[in-house]
Amino acid sequence: MSQAPTARKTIETLLQEHRHFQPPASFAAQANARDPSIYERADQDHEAWWASWAEKLHWDRKWDQVLHWDLPFARWFVGGKLNASVQCLDRHVQAGLGTRVAFHWEGEPGDARTLTYAHMLEGACRVANGLRALGIRKGDRVTLYMPMVPELAMAMHGCARIGAIFSVVFAGFSATSLKDRIQDQQARLVLCADGCWRRGKLLDLKTVVDEAVAECPSVERVVVWRRGAGAATASRKQARDLEWSAAFDHQPATCAPESMDAEDPLYILYTSGTTGKPKGILHTTGGYLTAAYATSNLVFDLKPETDVFWCTADIGWVTGHSYVVFGPMANGVTQVMYEGAPNHPNPDRFWELVARHKVSIFYTAPTAIRAFMKWGDEWPAKHDLSSLRLLGTVGEPINPEAWVWYLHHIGRERCPIVDTWWQTETGSILITPLPGITRTLPGSATRPFPGVGAALVDEQGNEVQGAGGGYLVLTRPWPSMLRGIWGDNERYHKTYWSRFPGRYFAGDGCKRDEEGNYWLLGRVDDVMNVAGHRLSTMEIESALVDHPAVAEAAVVGVPHDLKGQTPVGFVLLRAGHQPTPTLAQDLIEHVAKLIGGLARPERVIFAAELPKTRSGKIMRRLLRDVAEGKALGDTTTLADPKVVEELKQMYEEKES
Ligand code: ATP
Ligand code: MG
Repeated sequence: MSQAPTARKTIETLLQEHRHFQPPASFAAQANARDPSIYERADQDHEAWWASWAEKLHWDRKWDQVLHWDLPFARWFVGGKLNASVQCLDRHVQAGLGTRVAFHWEGEPGDARTLTYAHMLEGACRVANGLRALGIRKGDRVTLYMPMVPELAMAMHGCARIGAIFSVVFAGFSATSLKDRIQDQQARLVLCADGCWRRGKLLDLKTVVDEAVAECPSVERVVVWRRGAGAATASRKQARDLEWSAAFDHQPATCAPESMDAEDPLYILYTSGTTGKPKGILHTTGGYLTAAYATSNLVFDLKPETDVFWCTADIGWVTGHSYVVFGPMANGVTQVMYEGAPNHPNPDRFWELVARHKVSIFYTAPTAIRAFMKWGDEWPAKHDLSSLRLLGTVGEPINPEAWVWYLHHIGRERCPIVDTWWQTETGSILITPLPGITRTLPGSATRPFPGVGAALVDEQGNEVQGAGGGYLVLTRPWPSMLRGIWGDNERYHKTYWSRFPGRYFAGDGCKRDEEGNYWLLGRVDDVMNVAGHRLSTMEIESALVDHPAVAEAAVVGVPHDLKGQTPVGFVLLRAGHQPTPTLAQDLIEHVAKLIGGLARPERVIFAAELPKTRSGKIMRRLLRDVAEGKALGDTTTLADPKVVEELKQMYEEKES
């Protein structure tokens, strides 16, 4: 009989990171989460843990059962009734906090508005009444195609108030992408803005909507909010169009909320499309709000009386849903909302806003942090950032060097950093430090949030014990988990529950160190096979970003005759560095020194930009297509199609 094959490592992990940071004592002393025993408590009875958070919300009727789990279908707070907009608006106004600022809003041209919780409640009620007047009922779908303006948050709460299922489409998507999403949902109504400002230009959103809706017979009406502030767009009024002011402004400022079942749908939201065609993720009401509320409270340590929270994510992504519109508002905190680009008119626009509004908690993405690094240290240095007390990051693995840059140049060594891992599907943060408890390490999201069950498994689904690398799976249901893919139960089952039966497959590679910290290693699809070794592209990228000349890197495995695959690095330099053959060689050696010859890139290509999704994530699958000379896969979620075309040309010139 032949011997069993020696176990092949699912992912080998080579990059070592030993820096670590304790929560500052003054932070730990005041933190919402101070007692490390909450992990144990939540673990012993996760239903009781989540129920203790649900109890902090306002329920019209309490649930009969915390969790009904019929794998892969979860129902949380079964029999409970509540309304999402009530948690985020009425509760605060009724508690006498109507005059608290909900949003300090700033438009890109510099126009500003201040909206209190009372304003937001009134606005949401007018929208809700207006929607009812237009015949929209509980369960109808409403598509929102709007920029970062308070009216978008009002519209979401307005829909939630009457039980209409809303779906926000990022207002940078093309007419085709918008059309696909409207058709997928069979929306009856579209709420849009006529335009928005981006890098000094007024983008014409209404023309995009007109083009999309022309092929969407389900849409009865389009309600248009006027951005104003200068120019008007070229779009023409269509027969089905209604002005926002006519549809909503004259409606009554109060509206009785629909009492929703905990499991009634709240929204549909499409994933970013980093790995392929976006999936329409369905979220429901009670569990989602509970987890968004709890994680906002503990991970961001919100103190609603004093904090000013700024999550820079667009509301068009899940981060903006859970950590602008629902989690922070359920906590009643004051927020900053900004319409435009971070580098308009100068690369210090964010820091100027932080200083002016005394932002205390700042949450952004690695792509933004790497852009700040690229633009130069002098921009944040010009501003008083002493109001900041906590920083966060989400969206991609953060390269340790970017983490340390963030701590030094933005956090000024004073602010803890929470690196939060989660997905559109998970609805809320699942792997994260708790800033008053957790010892953080640059590049690690540390450990599962209390009550969350995570594990690593190998190809065969065997659980990896202790330190090691593998595929991240979730082992227990959690309240804000997706309830399905809109209209596609089969894809739901296939994508998340078939690879490792009984467990949720996240699609991300991950390693765990001896202390139990989780280090996300990027997509399973981005793992490459070099001479029989399974390497994470992310670790090689982090080794490149560790070099002082590099701001950002994307590594892909390209076919190789002998080794099977070999790494090739696409690199963006920091301001002040020139692309030369000597530097390229330097970078190759730097990787070999940090993680070993196995990971040595075959080539380094200096790029002006990397192909990214509209949410700012690097799309390695397209770089792989370029390197393999294949036709490009789905490019509809690409932020700028020119970037990949240019890289393709560069790559092919160098090849010949
Ligand atoms: P698609 O599913 O359509 O390919 P997407 O996965 O990029 O798109 P999102 O739901 O926006 O869509 O992103 C979730 C993914 O982002 C995670 O699966 C993970 O790969 C990555 N991610 C998010 N936060 C972190 C983090 N803190 N560390 C590492 N990776 C992260
Ligand atoms: Mg995904």
